[in-house]
Amino acid sequence: MNLQADDYEIIAFFGLVMLFEFGERVWPAQKLDRLADVKLDVLSFSFALAVNRICNYIFRAAAVRLTPPHLATVVAALQSLPSALRILIALFIVDFIIYWIHRAQHNYDVFWRTHAWHHSIEHMYWFSGFRTSFLHSFLYNIPQVVIPVTLFHLSPAEAGIGYSLGIFIQFVEHTNWKMSFGPLNWLLVTPDYHRVHHSASLHRGQNLAGTFRIWDRMFGTYVDPAKMPEGYALGLGEPVEGKKIPRMLVGL
Ligand SMILES: [Zn+2]
Ligand SMILES: [Zn+2]
Repeated sequence: MNLQADDYEIIAFFGLVMLFEFGERVWPAQKLDRLADVKLDVLSFSFALAVNRICNYIFRAAAVRLTPPHLATVVAALQSLPSALRILIALFIVDFIIYWIHRAQHNYDVFWRTHAWHHSIEHMYWFSGFRTSFLHSFLYNIPQVVIPVTLFHLSPAEAGIGYSLGIFIQFVEHTNWKMSFGPLNWLLVTPDYHRVHHSASLHRGQNLAGTFRIWDRMFGTYVDPAKMPEGYALGLGEPVEGKKIPRMLVGL
């Protein structure tokens, strides 16, 4: 059986659903009403899945033709590295670029419109993290697809592992599982760390990193989750009006 990147992604996704469902039920971080926004979350999830698929195909096809000739020596040097290292370096570069896209989304109104839908989450668990607008998915897909394809020439299996890691990180960021990476907590984003970023009133423009906390520490957007008050509220600080949802889903 010849598995493609998409197959790895689907297998990884269902494995992670089972794992995080189990973790959240056995070790919940907060009391949570999972059914409060379930309709919105199902709608967002189906939408995000479709948009991600479409963007992925478009950018993958474009990026193959885009490999810049003057980067041939860099590409060749990267090719000689072991697979695991290439996937890690790709993840690191993509995470750095996404940090700055995310920062722009919080600093400029035109970009904030693409991101407000994600911040409308008031009940955070693994499923709610998929609440992303069309333009949000579009923006994030550019580095997520272009960097691995143009610079790293990842094979379908390597790209599949990379994407699966990306989905894993998405689950970790938003899960209601009380989770810690122990000695690696200083390096990696944990659920309580990203939760600060979803706060309704405190520090919403901080803890912007997706995978590596070091970007926040380096660029002055770090907040220690241990210093947050108990049970702080999440979301936009006001309920989302039904009539605004279609526009927020698109990201305009
Ligand atoms: Zn944000
Ligand atoms: Zn989030």
